[in-house]
Amino acid sequence: MDHTISSSTASTSTTRVVDVLVPVALNQAYSYRVPRDMELAPGDVVCVPLGPREVVAVVWAENAKPDPRLHNRLKDVSDKLDVPPLKAELRQLVDWVSNYTLSARGMVLRMTLRMGENLGPERTRPGVRLVGEPPRRLTPARRRVIDVLSDGLLHGKSEAAREAGVSSGVIDGLVDEGTLTVEAMPPPQAPPPPDPSYAQPDFSRDQRSAVDVMRTLAASGSFHVALLDGVTGSGKTEVYFEAIAENIRRGKQSLILMPEIALTGQFLDRFAQRFGVRPLEWHSELTPRTRARNWAAISEGKAPVVVGARSALFLPYADLGLIIVDEEHDQAYKQDDGAHYHARDMAVVRAHIAKIPIVLASATPSVESEVNARKGRYQRVALPARFGGQHMPHIEAIDMRRAPPPRGRFISPPLAEQIRYAIERREQALLFLNRRGYAPLTLCRACGHRFACTICDAWLVDHRFRQRLVCHHCGFSMPRPNICPHCAAEESLVAVGPGVERLQEEAASIFPEARTMVLSSDLITSIETMRSELNEIAEGRVDVIIGTQLVAKGHNFPRLNLVGVVDADLGLSNGDPRAAERTFQLLNQVVGRAGRDKGRGVGYLQTHQPEHPVIKALIASDREAFYASEIDIRERTGYPPFGRLASLIISAGDRPTAEGFARKLAATAPLDDRIQVLGPAEAPLAVIKGRYRFRLLVKSLRNVDLSQYLRGWLAAGPKTKGNLKLEVDVDPQSF
Ligand code: ADP
Ligand code: ZN
Repeated sequence: MDHTISSSTASTSTTRVVDVLVPVALNQAYSYRVPRDMELAPGDVVCVPLGPREVVAVVWAENAKPDPRLHNRLKDVSDKLDVPPLKAELRQLVDWVSNYTLSARGMVLRMTLRMGENLGPERTRPGVRLVGEPPRRLTPARRRVIDVLSDGLLHGKSEAAREAGVSSGVIDGLVDEGTLTVEAMPPPQAPPPPDPSYAQPDFSRDQRSAVDVMRTLAASGSFHVALLDGVTGSGKTEVYFEAIAENIRRGKQSLILMPEIALTGQFLDRFAQRFGVRPLEWHSELTPRTRARNWAAISEGKAPVVVGARSALFLPYADLGLIIVDEEHDQAYKQDDGAHYHARDMAVVRAHIAKIPIVLASATPSVESEVNARKGRYQRVALPARFGGQHMPHIEAIDMRRAPPPRGRFISPPLAEQIRYAIERREQALLFLNRRGYAPLTLCRACGHRFACTICDAWLVDHRFRQRLVCHHCGFSMPRPNICPHCAAEESLVAVGPGVERLQEEAASIFPEARTMVLSSDLITSIETMRSELNEIAEGRVDVIIGTQLVAKGHNFPRLNLVGVVDADLGLSNGDPRAAERTFQLLNQVVGRAGRDKGRGVGYLQTHQPEHPVIKALIASDREAFYASEIDIRERTGYPPFGRLASLIISAGDRPTAEGFARKLAATAPLDDRIQVLGPAEAPLAVIKGRYRFRLLVKSLRNVDLSQYLRGWLAAGPKTKGNLKLEVDVDPQSF
């Protein structure tokens, strides 16, 4: 069928109209007239006027019966861009995600169209080369330029200026004097494609059968979900690389999703060791130029393998043949601003629509995926042991009631002793505490005043490195005062509780000879510094690492054999139905950093409740016990995956408005005996950025189309206006 809306088939009296989806917070596609000389089909990427602006948008459908009365009010499509059209499968994904999550279609499309700036042909860049005699007047600046160019090769002009530490004027001067010539830089060479046969490892017996499944899966070219379920260090990455190798051989593109792209430095190197070149990266820190280049490569099919954060799922792959979701259980896959969606779930949807295989990899699968594997909906591919016969780390609890640390300290004597042994053996130790900053609370000893955010329902966190008190919810910060603002007492302010910065202080005082390093997202200025810090650890230039969950994920530190979890109870007590799952996954993962090389890793969990089922399952390394009890609880309570959930957050600048609207909205919920509407109640964070928040929790049986129910309800229910805001979160991950 020919979808082209060509000028030749239309009569002269009618103007052709197309519906164009624009990447703004709108569900509706807008109608535009097609200029006489333009050929357009659904999927074409166009420029259209939108209010005072021109925006890049996508033809979503032909409009066969435009309303003739509106004709003269429609605007023309301005331009058709010279990029491959969005395939039907991607347009279908955008529609599906919007429909399921109740996010505006335009906002979902926006993730597809993040194509950077210079879409046109690349500008040629000037380069300079040393050709003539040095000038008569040789200033130090000129000498530095000549030094930089002394190899006689062509250098980019701006790079040469930067390297020599001079302005471009200095270079121009040397060109005028005939010392340098200007030539156009050749366009950047596309890297060679990954080579599937570059360096294939020898696999263990367990791995071989998993590899066979991976290859068959990739070769099948049909929708199929595999859960690659292997303990930390079992070689999941090496194994799924074989699925990618097979997919490359078939000439198709592969997408590897990672929860946090900042953490993939080692991954890129490993990929290069296996395939000879690094894969293409996609994440929010790419420069506009690289973004444009990568987007073009992806859409033209010139990027065989793409590694990206969750938004890479929405890119216009020319021929996607395989998706891998690494660390599939990670909550970073849930996006909560703009569009709310879970990238792992939507990846399965994309694979289904595109009829391609998908691999979900984890050492601690999400309860959802675990249940799907148990029910046979996903094919479980198990790697039960570490590669090379290494043992799994031995895990012990330290009962903090029996072995309390000294006052104002957080490292118990038994843990301190183990760290000392590790340092003596020239091994590394990792102290894990999932709390940024120095202390979560600051109070005045004289009057009891506690420092709280003025616009959020939260304490200010002491950040000593930055000398500020910071709100972790809105970013508000103030200098750390010396005097209590409430009672004016001097030197009366005390830090309560530990953060990683405070732990470093403690570690440095107990082990003055040790080299310590704090890894925490707020101390990382760029991906590059992050990668170089991780390298320093991997190369053994740090003895005691103190980190938040940033260190828990994926890294391979060969000399690390001891992991101490400073507060294993931290995530267990917050009332969130997923608290147990989260804590189990996180602690399992962080302890899994230990002993990856020598196989004698040990993990210590400092806890006040060693009898807690999660702690007990961790100590016994009894994964089965954890899943059995967790699945049982979910099933009995009807929580996901045995039921569905959505949360509606209503917020306003004042409490009565928010609460009043939430009550009105709740009262209009259509009755359905398969659906319960709970609340309104104050949201877990009752005030953020001066906005009061109430929540309705919608809970249904599993076989209910909750999105459709919500849409019907919200269409008929009261409308938000003024300061009121309603956010819909289908499948909320924390609440
Ligand atoms: P996981 O992702 O399951 O934690 P990795 O894929 O990171 O495991 O493998 C753990 C370590 O073992 C890595 O250093 C990896 O290079 C090594 N490894 C795994 N399988 C093999 C193999 N077949 N041959 C050589 N090294 C391997
Ligand atoms: Zn705040």
